[in-house]
Amino acid sequence: MATAMSASALVPPAAAVTRQRTLLCVPATARAPREMAAEVAAAAALGADVAELRLDRLSGFAPHRDLPVLLADPRPLPALVTYRPKWEGGEYEGDDEPRFEALMLAMELGAEYVDIELKVADKFMKLISGKKPETCKLIVSSHNYENTPSAEELGNLVAQMQATGADIVKIATTATEIVDVSRMFQILVHCQEKQVPIIGLVMNDRGFVSRVLCPKFGGYLTFGTLEKGKESAPAQPTIADLINVYNIRQIGPDTKVFGIIGKPVGHSKSPILHNEAFRSVGFNAVYVPFLVDDLANFLTTYSSPDFAGFSCTIPHKEAAVRCCDEVDPIARDIGAVNTIIRKSDGKLVGYNTDYVGAISAIEDGIRALQPTETTTSPLAGRLFVVIGAGGAGKALAYGAKEKGARVVIANRTFARAQELGNLIGAPALSLAELENYHPEEGMILANTTAIGMHPNVNETPLSKQALKSYAVVFDAVYTPKDTRLLREAAECGATVVSGLEMFIRQAMGQFEHFTGMPAPDSLMRDIVLAKI
Ligand code: NAP
Repeated sequence: MATAMSASALVPPAAAVTRQRTLLCVPATARAPREMAAEVAAAAALGADVAELRLDRLSGFAPHRDLPVLLADPRPLPALVTYRPKWEGGEYEGDDEPRFEALMLAMELGAEYVDIELKVADKFMKLISGKKPETCKLIVSSHNYENTPSAEELGNLVAQMQATGADIVKIATTATEIVDVSRMFQILVHCQEKQVPIIGLVMNDRGFVSRVLCPKFGGYLTFGTLEKGKESAPAQPTIADLINVYNIRQIGPDTKVFGIIGKPVGHSKSPILHNEAFRSVGFNAVYVPFLVDDLANFLTTYSSPDFAGFSCTIPHKEAAVRCCDEVDPIARDIGAVNTIIRKSDGKLVGYNTDYVGAISAIEDGIRALQPTETTTSPLAGRLFVVIGAGGAGKALAYGAKEKGARVVIANRTFARAQELGNLIGAPALSLAELENYHPEEGMILANTTAIGMHPNVNETPLSKQALKSYAVVFDAVYTPKDTRLLREAAECGATVVSGLEMFIRQAMGQFEHFTGMPAPDSLMRDIVLAKI
């Protein structure tokens, strides 16, 4: 079993290897047996395949009284019975003998799976020798709460577990970096080739993708909780998210993997948006959050063609420019890439859909009010004031400049306004100067600062009086959708363009890069309005 495994092993084996579908297991963790039984019924209703009965969580557990209740026939779901001792991360503090007796009783009562820890597996095997019912599968498990060992060590661990007579081996490790998960994927692939049923999961936020992608790599089972707060191990998703957000039932060896690279990334709503959009056009792909510390290391580790494209967010947009083999020229000028595509030759190409999304939203906002036959941008020749000189400010400034606008930069830190102004050949203003700046009528204003963003919804970057000089006002802030700036600009008669439009369009741009298909416009809009 212990063989060297290269990164290319991250490609799942061809369909020649027969595989069963990855089972979805809900851990039942209630303190009382009847509540635990109710959790199992709820798990069945949500679409789980198996329920894990965590006996160590029950208070005052009495095997002969409680197990017949928990394993009463007919059961809503097959049962995986676990009685985890404290020394392996569980809550049971007593001797092994009563624990083993409870597990044996669970077998007699028809439990479909029983979990036993590797450290005591030989002892347990001796005890049950000749007594294990045919229908019960024994899972031999090992939990590492510190790190993820090398692929070779993981291979040795599997061999050791197999030698105990396990029907299924279970390895749970801990990710210190997301690249650790690749070794678990390698071992899953390797076990699949050798026809060894394996549950291989990596705990905590950096290991999250192991829980979603195990059907791709042939994992026997993955865990999903009934609801948030009912986790039996760090960073378990809910079963509803596995089924409804990640479409886990549709994930197979050929499923392409996309995702958002960031730190933090757990709050991102992009998985909701992109997975639903993929599903709507029948694109065989899944979109996951990648909590990444070192972008270059991540991209070299997950270098197989199956990891096909990425969204990039804070703090990796600048590093993404350096990591790509080719970069869209304006994205290079802006110094930020928010979309990476892996081409068929393996090369990484970087784009910036933020600037495309914002500029096209403003152009369409103007065209809607002033229809014209010409293909020239309605920004050409217009005075375009950008407030802010951060990432969004740069994107808007370069984008407007490219369309032929006369750009002016205003920023709280004047030196940063000057710096950006020098880069693109634009005058710089302080925010105080901007208040009285009206060299001409019909100017365009773009706020790219966080002023007015929730919870500071009463703030605005420019007085209503000053807004009277602007014909078009765009606000990058999109929480709330109607900012004070946009409300007051509309009251002054300006055409207003919401940051939500930029958000929707940057996501649609990413979808088109990812799939090569037109984005499902109205669906993506509906999702953003309803869920984001
Ligand atoms: P960033 O790189 O951190 O830049 C922030 C900019 O805002 C800087 O110019 C900063 O000025 C200025 N600023 C921050 N707080 C300020 C305050 N209280 N008063 C005056 N100026 C202030 O951030 P970013 O990535 O560009 O994002 C900026 C905003 O755009 C955020 O609200 C973000 O949510 C929004 N955004 C929206 C979209 C979308 O799709 N709609 C996309 C990207 C970003 P200093 O230089 O003086 O610090």
